[in-house]
Amino acid sequence: MIRIHSYSGGVGSMMTAVRDAENNGTEDMLLLFTDTLIEDKDLYRFMIESAACLFDLPKPVYLLKLCGAIPDVEKDMDARRDYLTALAADAMDYIPQLHWISDSRDPWEVFRDRKWIGNSRVAQCSEELKQKLSRRWVKERYKPDEAILYFGIDWTEMHRIGGIEKGWSPYDCWFPMTEQPYLYKSDMLHGLKQYGIPAPRLYNMGFAHNNCGGFCVRGGQGHFINLLQENRELYLYHEAKELEMQQYLERTDITILTRTINKIDYPVSLRELREEWDTGLGLQTKIDLSDIGGCGCYI
Ligand code: SF4
Repeated sequence: MIRIHSYSGGVGSMMTAVRDAENNGTEDMLLLFTDTLIEDKDLYRFMIESAACLFDLPKPVYLLKLCGAIPDVEKDMDARRDYLTALAADAMDYIPQLHWISDSRDPWEVFRDRKWIGNSRVAQCSEELKQKLSRRWVKERYKPDEAILYFGIDWTEMHRIGGIEKGWSPYDCWFPMTEQPYLYKSDMLHGLKQYGIPAPRLYNMGFAHNNCGGFCVRGGQGHFINLLQENRELYLYHEAKELEMQQYLERTDITILTRTINKIDYPVSLRELREEWDTGLGLQTKIDLSDIGGCGCYI
């Protein structure tokens, strides 16, 4: 039986694989990484470094250095795509049980194809770039009685289990981090010290998850204000992409974010949110910094 880990580059998926490896070894274990092409550079570093560690391979210093030179999303997506293709091939050569796959589109290209901008209720990016891609990869290689799927959700995210099991039926799904000993994300990040692996930097920058470089259409106002503060250039890139999509759709009422006032939802573009923040208007009146939202790419 092959054990396939949905390996996202987050600390939860590493710790899931660690628990599985401690119980069952690594011989029949595969790590499946689905690349959205807009991940943080340090996610790629963490994903490669932790995967090598899991399979007892020496630290791949050369590959880790290459991660630091990945072209920025906001500067050159074409160069980034080519660079990541080469990096993925090198990483899989070094770690044969790592499978690094991509649809070849990024989330904005998916929105254009699906003629809609993703939001907290509809995330076509997750559906196309994560869920469909990984299911296709697994189904083409393994029958349901030949593979078990592992997911890195923890005991604070048990509400996600039903959706994952339904989506993957008839394959069996396992969630080792929902079992004892129960760990918070902070415990898992602390636990990385014993492996000598630095935590993915987005966690230290105040992001709740390590996906899509700190961008996420399931994020809320507070999430995007954090992105604005931590990486203004990247925020401006996504702001421009949202405006570009609105022009393409000829709709200004379609936005990633919405704000509810007196039980009525109003669209808020990333440009509006930034202008509210920059002028100081939003803090007194509108911006809900506690609105973080949540990513659940495999649901
Ligand atoms: S992290 Fe958010 S933006 Fe990225 S693929 Fe998942 S749902 Fe989409």
